[in-house]
Amino acid sequence: MRVLSVELGVDEPDSLLRARSAQKAGIPEEAIRGLRVAHRALDARRRGGRHELRFVHHVDLDLDPDSPDAALAAVLARALRSGRVREVDPPPGFRRDDVDRAVAPGRIVVVGSGPAGLYAAWTLAANGVAVDVIDRGPALRERSRAVARFTRTRELDPERNLLFGEGGAGTYSDGKLYTRTQHGLEAPIVETLIEAGADPRIAFDARAHVGTDRLHRILPRLRERLESMGVRFHFDTRLEGWTRDATGSRVRVLRTQAGEIDCDGVVLALGHSARDTIRALAADGLVVEAKPFQLGLRIEHPQPLVDAGRFGPDADLERLGHAYYTLVSKAQPATPGVHSFCMCPGGQIVAAVAQPGLLCTNGMSNSRHSSPFANSGLVVTLGPREYGEGAFAGVVHQERLEAAFFAAGGSDWTAPAQRVPDFLAGRETRDLGRSSYKLGLSSQRLDRLLEPSVVEGLRLAIRRFDRQIPGYASEAGVLVGVESRSSGPLRLTRDPATRRAVGLDNVWPVGEGAGYAGGIMSAAIDGARSAWALLGVAG
Ligand SMILES: Cc1cc2nc3c(=O)[nH]c(=O)nc-3n(C[C@H](O)[C@H](O)[C@H](O)COP(=O)(O)OP(=O)(O)OC[C@H]3O[C@@H](n4cnc5c(N)ncnc54)[C@H](O)[C@@H]3O)c2cc1C
Repeated sequence: MRVLSVELGVDEPDSLLRARSAQKAGIPEEAIRGLRVAHRALDARRRGGRHELRFVHHVDLDLDPDSPDAALAAVLARALRSGRVREVDPPPGFRRDDVDRAVAPGRIVVVGSGPAGLYAAWTLAANGVAVDVIDRGPALRERSRAVARFTRTRELDPERNLLFGEGGAGTYSDGKLYTRTQHGLEAPIVETLIEAGADPRIAFDARAHVGTDRLHRILPRLRERLESMGVRFHFDTRLEGWTRDATGSRVRVLRTQAGEIDCDGVVLALGHSARDTIRALAADGLVVEAKPFQLGLRIEHPQPLVDAGRFGPDADLERLGHAYYTLVSKAQPATPGVHSFCMCPGGQIVAAVAQPGLLCTNGMSNSRHSSPFANSGLVVTLGPREYGEGAFAGVVHQERLEAAFFAAGGSDWTAPAQRVPDFLAGRETRDLGRSSYKLGLSSQRLDRLLEPSVVEGLRLAIRRFDRQIPGYASEAGVLVGVESRSSGPLRLTRDPATRRAVGLDNVWPVGEGAGYAGGIMSAAIDGARSAWALLGVAG
């Protein structure tokens, strides 16, 4: 029994939840044997111009099933009808009883060790399937060394970086776990992370995040756990092509730079930056289509400006944590809509890059959100109307902009930047001030590097956002770019029911690079659900 929207003031203790939940459900407090917070969100909306912060909870109640109290049953039925209370099913597990274990799928190779690949592997192994995970990048320890070397020397290793290697793109991130999928698999996935060392509060916090520092302790434990389930990992093993059987519909051998691998099935969990691999596979039978994607700039402010704008001047940050925001500016007839994306409180702007000569920004943070800066992507959605026809037209468009930003920054990963008022007024910035971006900023006219319609959308949005967070459009804000990979421009077309790649009987494209996810949790869920589909069960 889940009681919805139980409110507590930010100064009120959690011990009041029992009484408040009982009150909301209309039942006596004594009828509650136990309770568990299923979801907690901070409501920081301003009311009448004032900051009235409150926590809003969904609370799962354990009631006495043998209670003879007919009056209680009637009250609960009424609460259910009113929508204040809802019955909840227990979350599913990775292992399914309805899998036909007489039909063995053979050896499956999962390509990519990001969240989609890891949870596809977990689900397959939990159901008794033999799995090999290959990744073009190295295991975490070596990957971390390469990332540190890049920051120190500016020499990019195209196979060992913020995008490629153990854990995928989310390994250097804020580790935000909230998703819009609302799928039951979220709970068991979160459980695996908690078992591996994540803060238990991620089980209910609406703004659950893990942080790069903790992710680096969790990932090796997840790998150990998978290995104990029989999964074999092969790092520094880049998929370069495949050989199909005589019918052309089944992939039999994967060609990698480390040699050939026989397989009975392939899960393609490549992420959004394996452009070379997807081009090579598209030339060999993989059906690829263009899809809309997001593009824009990253904006950075001092974190205290965001905290004060969202919580008011005297908020207890120890209790509340640093403020997040999600902002949306609706489209006008001639101006595209803009939304904030991947907001990192107390975070750092990074060069999320794998290819020489192409600059792309993103944000990460550690578990304590301890940097003095807040950053977020501000993006518009582009479709074939903006970037042209052809499956790879969006990729070409991304690459053109990323090359322009790389060159404008001085071709050494210094990022082009502009203070917000200068971007709004269309003039150069004299002094950029401090930033979290470790490779340095160079003052450039970003308003001239992006298409006019994107610039107009961003200008309108920033002015609007300033009404929600005072100072958002002020000198305190700096724009940095280019934010071009908040989602991928490709979809690897698959059958909606079987999730198989169109025309290929034993290939399952999954996750963000395949166009079916947009973050860590949604990629993990897509990987796990596709593994179920591979095993012949829906879910
Ligand atoms: C800096 C940054 C911060 C982010 N922050 C967040 C956040 O806070 N919250 C959130 O939800 N999302 C965040 N994201 C997005 C998130 O990381 C991705 O949505 C998610 O990782 C996608 O998962 P995936 O498994 O589909 O692909 P990926 O995680 O990209 O994994 C793909 C894997 O495939 C491997 N690979 C690629 N090509 C080959 C090949 N040819 N052969 C073998 N292996 C190959 C790569 O090495 C990589 O390990 C962030 C991304 C970045 C870059």
